[in-house]
Amino acid sequence: MLRLPPFRYHRPRTVAEAVELVGEHGHENGHAMYIAGGTDLIPNMKHRLFTPPHLVALGGIAELRGIREEDGHLRIGAAETLAGVAADPRVRERYPALAEAAGHVAGPQLRNMGTIGGNLCLDTRCTYYNQTAFWRGALGYCLKKDGDVCHVTGVGKKCVAAHSADTPPVLMTLAATIVLVGRSGRREVPVGDFYVADGIANTRREAAEVVTEVRIPLASARRRQGYVKLRQRKSIDFPLLTVAVAAELAAGGIVEAIEGVVTGLGARPRVLSGWAEVASGRALDDEVIDELAARAHAQCRPLENMIVDAEWRRAMVSVYVRRALEQVRAA
Ligand SMILES: Cc1cc2nc3c(=O)[nH]c(=O)nc-3n(C[C@H](O)[C@H](O)[C@H](O)COP(=O)(O)OP(=O)(O)OC[C@H]3O[C@@H](n4cnc5c(N)ncnc54)[C@H](O)[C@@H]3O)c2cc1C
Ligand code: SF4
Repeated sequence: MLRLPPFRYHRPRTVAEAVELVGEHGHENGHAMYIAGGTDLIPNMKHRLFTPPHLVALGGIAELRGIREEDGHLRIGAAETLAGVAADPRVRERYPALAEAAGHVAGPQLRNMGTIGGNLCLDTRCTYYNQTAFWRGALGYCLKKDGDVCHVTGVGKKCVAAHSADTPPVLMTLAATIVLVGRSGRREVPVGDFYVADGIANTRREAAEVVTEVRIPLASARRRQGYVKLRQRKSIDFPLLTVAVAAELAAGGIVEAIEGVVTGLGARPRVLSGWAEVASGRALDDEVIDELAARAHAQCRPLENMIVDAEWRRAMVSVYVRRALEQVRAA
């Protein structure tokens, strides 16, 4: 049986109190950590990937709840559950790809507990990291936790664990932003700028900062959206590859704007480049879809950071990009 390490559980009622608690108990080296649904943090603690002596719970903070229209945006509180986001009629109507992505995270029980804030802050994943302490110790640990070499690259310079959350790529194609509140105040960052290419710590979130909400422009609802996910079992698994696409099409299906984002490969979601040059002013027909899929394939080189064959995953990039684009065309 895997047991939890000992910790003290704090239940703040406001964001300010939560930030203060993490500041007070020391956010350096994960001394105090936020916990939302706990669906990722608790297994990680059982694996001794994190052993924070203090957990600051976000579930009892009313400010972090609620989905509502505000200043030309749909505002989703960070503590809203994935099941709630997936079922919300405004999300389903305006941002169907987000409803799909939230509705395809893990399984029903985990979506009832897991939150959108936790999904945005999800730790990166790797075959050599998401294991028990005993398993990792037998291999001499690795750069991301307790060791000094990366078993994927064979050198000790960089961690290439994979960003594995489903909603961020979709939120990027919808031009969404994240609101963070910390000891030095409030700031808002585009979801695309929130992530960095470092598997050890892949967000720009400072340790004491709380993600309080996600804001999606109402104007993004006019974008046609597509979302597809590759995973081992359709019922529960993390993505091996996620593709999100959004496009604005004029009369006759002519592309005015188009964006594609993939994740599950490297430490941050990746915007596929050069799509506007290929597709702008053309109909989204089979030829354009093939060209975009070929571009995606050329840009993505999955690593051996997951349990499946990297070359197969690469082959699946063009297949899944094509499927996402076909969804956009049919939307
Ligand atoms: C079997 C299994 C399958 C899964 N499959 C998927 C999948 O297919 N796709 C997927 O995306 N995820 C998957 N997950 C991971 C997880 O369930 C989801 O990502 C979920 O959204 C995490 O949210 P949470 O509220 O439970 O986060 P928690 O576990 O509570 O927290 C995760 C991390 O985020 C931090 N955090 C949480 N909320 C905030 C906040 N508001 N501000 C600042 N920091 C915060 C925590 O400190 C912690 O570091 C799976 C998990 C399991 C166990
Ligand atoms: S990519 Fe390398 S350093 Fe990062 S978790 Fe995997 S083995 Fe460890």
